[in-house]
Amino acid sequence: MRIAIVADVHANFSAFRAVLGHAVEQGPVDAVWCLGDTVGYGPQPNECVELLREFDHVAVAGNHDLAACGKMGVEEFNNAAAAAARWTATQLTPRSRTYLEELPFVVQEGDFTLVHGSLRDPEWEYLLSTTQAAAQFALQETRYSIVGHSHLAFVCREDAAAPPTLERAQDGDCVQLDEQRLILNPGGAGQPRDGDPRAGYALYDDEDRSVTFARVEYDIEETQLAMRKAALPRWLIERLSDGL
Ligand code: ZN
Repeated sequence: MRIAIVADVHANFSAFRAVLGHAVEQGPVDAVWCLGDTVGYGPQPNECVELLREFDHVAVAGNHDLAACGKMGVEEFNNAAAAAARWTATQLTPRSRTYLEELPFVVQEGDFTLVHGSLRDPEWEYLLSTTQAAAQFALQETRYSIVGHSHLAFVCREDAAAPPTLERAQDGDCVQLDEQRLILNPGGAGQPRDGDPRAGYALYDDEDRSVTFARVEYDIEETQLAMRKAALPRWLIERLSDGL
């Protein structure tokens, strides 16, 4: 099985098409694992939900998914995120809204646990430090877990004799899965935040037990044009050019 792992698509349909296209170019994609925030910020929420649904997939809820479908208020969002969430709520089809409302917070899939933020705070914690990683490992019932939310690709390894290590993952990095417990983040597909504007994702191959990180060029201007038409906040449009 080859499984595309995506997080934080954020209604960026051009980016989502690009990462799935990149995965399919290399061979059949049997499933998609989605770490949440499929909508919010970007201009094409329904298209992204429908594209995800074309695949055999497992998805968890992100904070933006919950805000868009009305299950969470926007009080804790910054102004631009709140404006985008309110706009998204007006755009969702009943079918997309129902889909988002029904997303679970945490899913176990074989050796993996999927959660948007972290196991101790599924919707809000940005898991970025080794201290936070240690807290995640303490709650993690499976050998591996995958998170999103920070929009930064990384590999975190548990070490029985020392604190966990956390290393940012680059395009082409390949992790061989073995006994060591891991936390992975595939990076942001629809709004990368590491200074590289290319869409990020990862590909899990369960036969050779590997996860490969990739960055993919996509038509940023197509997304920005659609955002301008929707009158989404300028900062959200401009940040896509910088990958920040
Ligand atoms: Zn996000």
